This record gives sequence, structure tokens and C-alpha cells, in this order.
Amino acid sequence: MTESPLSIPVYEGSMLSLRSRSSIPSVSRSRPLTGLAKRKSEPEPKWKHGELESKYRCTACNSYLRFPVQFEDCGHYICSSCLPDIMRVAPRCPTCQQPVSRDKIVNDKTLQKEIQSLDVYCFSKEKGCTWEGTLKDYTVHTETCGFVMIDCPNECGVRFEKRFLTKHQTEDCPKRKVACEFCKTSVVFEDEIPHLNICTEFKIPCPNQCSDQEFSRGQIQSHLDNECPKQELSCPFNECGCDYRGQRIDIAKHMKESPGVHLNVAGRTITIQKKLLQAFEERISEQKKWIELLAGKVNALEKTYGAQYIWKIDHYQERLEEARTNKKTTLFSPPFLTSRHGYRLALSICLCGDGRAKGKYVSLFICLCRGDYDSLLSWPFSHRVTFTLIDQCEDVNNRRPIIYTVKPNICKENKPFLGRPVTDRNPSFGAQKFTDLDAMATLEYIKDDTIYIKVDIDNEEMIII
Ligand SMILES: [Zn+2]
Ligand SMILES: [Zn+2]
Ligand SMILES: [Zn+2]
Ligand SMILES: [Zn+2]
Ligand SMILES: [Zn+2]
Ligand SMILES: [Zn+2]
Ligand SMILES: [Zn+2]
Repeated sequence: MTESPLSIPVYEGSMLSLRSRSSIPSVSRSRPLTGLAKRKSEPEPKWKHGELESKYRCTACNSYLRFPVQFEDCGHYICSSCLPDIMRVAPRCPTCQQPVSRDKIVNDKTLQKEIQSLDVYCFSKEKGCTWEGTLKDYTVHTETCGFVMIDCPNECGVRFEKRFLTKHQTEDCPKRKVACEFCKTSVVFEDEIPHLNICTEFKIPCPNQCSDQEFSRGQIQSHLDNECPKQELSCPFNECGCDYRGQRIDIAKHMKESPGVHLNVAGRTITIQKKLLQAFEERISEQKKWIELLAGKVNALEKTYGAQYIWKIDHYQERLEEARTNKKTTLFSPPFLTSRHGYRLALSICLCGDGRAKGKYVSLFICLCRGDYDSLLSWPFSHRVTFTLIDQCEDVNNRRPIIYTVKPNICKENKPFLGRPVTDRNPSFGAQKFTDLDAMATLEYIKDDTIYIKVDIDNEEMIII
């Protein structure tokens, strides 16, 4: 035989690394390597002709030889699945203790055939299994033998012979599924009673015993609230002062019998309610006056401390001329704060337009300047900015200011404009086409050669420090 036994396929029960030593059956301490190849649950059959001859038994696992291999030096046999354990450390024959070498092991198909043809009964013969045959067919039989002990697949913890499986699963297992007879949901048998205690379809009689009818648990409240003639209720005029309580049928009678009483209590209630309402109205109008007063004060404060700045630009004509002739195209406002400790901003204006707007529009911009409180503020700057060119008409109601609002778009590209300033000031953003140059000359935007630009910063979501 040329085939090396170490390359023989490893049969069941030879997962070396997973086997724990403590679980090895203590066959014999004298053996250097006991039957490490503990076989799977398959029980040994009953040998038809009494005890198994010792030549057919493996001294490593103490069971009959499976796919036997022979040590050529001493002539002893073991199962091929027992071999890897033996060969792991200082290999010796488990029968005679002689050292064995790797290249002197051969498998013996003839012996395998001989063993496989031994006549056996099922291990459950005593229990009643009538199967008999050769060892070769025995493995197949154990897979179907109804006398094999199995654990309940529902994990209820019960062990029984396989032939009782159906009976157990349909009649006995506490973990079997059953359908609730009321709501038809599938529940585990042992949870059925707790389920019935909450099942909304479970039928119960009316607690007032108004009739023989039964209601599902989910409907009973509606029955009590809306129809049960025996449900005890208060008179509907209870809130008005009628203290009568009785069953639903009696309430109807009570209402019919005491219209006078009810009119009386209702009348009294209306009077009280009317007085209360009057008192409330007075309070509300008082509060309204208060709110108006406070609103006025807040308005005044906003003007003084609000996020607002008015930029006065005088010598308008001269500055316009300077812009037109490119002598000085841009004017800058002094920096201002959005609140005492807020953002520091500055305006810039091109009276004769900037870039493509040149000669056609007034361009108006704003920029963030480095401030003392920047580290306390939230970045990027995200607050709406509203520019207003003030109409200086003396009749305030007739003023028509020019208004332009910019909502900062917080995106990565706008970080240089809206991020926390790292130099003295960020680049400006705003309205290149704030207003037509021609419109400037109309109405009373320019008066006494002066214009006023107002800027409001929306501080609704601004953290005021
Ligand atoms: Zn063995
Ligand atoms: Zn030996
Ligand atoms: Zn059997
Ligand atoms: Zn079970
Ligand atoms: Zn149910
Ligand atoms: Zn009822
Ligand atoms: Zn009443």
C-alpha cells in the first residue's frame, strides 16, 4: 500500500484542537494516549455473537475499529480517526507502547470490510428495536432508529426517544406553539394563560352584569362608556351643581323628572360664568396695555443697542465725482458692533458701482472685521443683513426707502467671507447692484448733499453675550 495513512480523510470525532482533555473518558491511566478520538454520540451496537473480539477493538478509543490503520512494526491496529492524536507527540502504539514511525503505518481495507460485515443488533434491542443487520448498515440505521434519545428541538429541556417526537411536539411540549382561540395569534403553550389575561379578543361578561352578552376585552370600555344601562354615571348637570348619580337608565328618568332643578342650576352657573368672563376680559385689556408699554420700551432699546448701524455719507456729489473718475472708487465705514460684545462689521460703498456695475449701479457691501470678542461668537457668520437707503422725506409716512437683504449662504466656498477673520478684515459680500444710479437722484435720498445707509443685522438666533 502506497497511500500514506496521515493523508487518509479524517473521520468523525477527530477535531483535535477542539477536544478538551477533561472530557476524555478515563479508559485506562496506563495507556499513554487513551481513546482521545471520542466518537460522536453513535452508540455501539449489540454484537450478534456476544462480545466483540479484541482484534476488532481500537485500544485508543476503546470502540470497534473504524477504517483501521496498522503499525507495521508491532502489527497493532487503531482507527484512522484516532491516528492524529497518537502522532501528535512522541508517537507510541497504544497497545504495546512501542514507538511508531510515520512512514510505517498502513491502512487495511480488508480488515475494514471484515469488521463492517459483522452481524449486529440495534443498541436499543432491549428497548424494543427489532432492527438487525451488518455493522455497515448500522450507522444508517442509527440515524432513523426511533429509540435514539434526543433533546426536544424546542429546547424545553426534555429528553425522549425519537419515536415520541411528534407526540411530544403536538401534545406535551410546554414550548410548543398553539393558536390563541380568541385572537388566533400563535403563542407558546406555557405563555397561553398570561396571554389570555391580556388578549384583547378574550370574551368577558359586562362587570355590571347588564346582560348575558359577552364582550371582547378590547370592546368592554366602549360598552361601559356608551351603552351599558347599568353603568353608574353622574347627572350631565353635575358641573352646574346637580349631585345626582345613578345607572344610565335612571339618569334618563332623572332628566325627565327634574327639568326645574336643572334649569335652576344651569341659570346659576351661567351667571357665575358671565362674571368670571368679565373679570377675565378686564385682566386681558390691562395686560394688553402693559404689553404695548413694554413694546415701546423694547423698541427704544433696540434703536439704542440693537444690531443696527446708520452710516452718514456727506459731500455726496464730490465723492460721486471721485468715484466716477476712479480717484477713489470705494468708501469704507468705520467698524461697528452688532451688540456690545458682538460681531465687528464694516460697510463699503462704490457710489459709481463696482466691476460690471460700474456707471450703472450703486454697489453696497459688508465685511466681517477682526473683533475683540470673536472667540466668544459662533462661526461662520450666518445672520441676515438688510441694507436700507433712507428716504429723507419730512413726511415720515411718505418715505420710500430702498431695501436689500442678504442671507449668508453657509458653504465651504464662502468660508473666506463668513468665517472667523484671520486678518484685519474678510473680503466683502453684499449687493453689487444695490440700486440704479439714476434712482439715487429721485425722491429725497440725497438731501443737503448727504445720504444715510442703514444696516440691520438679524439677531433672532444670535447668541448675545
Ligand atoms: Zn479508535
Ligand atoms: Zn503495538
Ligand atoms: Zn434501533
Ligand atoms: Zn419540548
Ligand atoms: Zn389572544
Ligand atoms: Zn353592561
Ligand atoms: Zn341632575
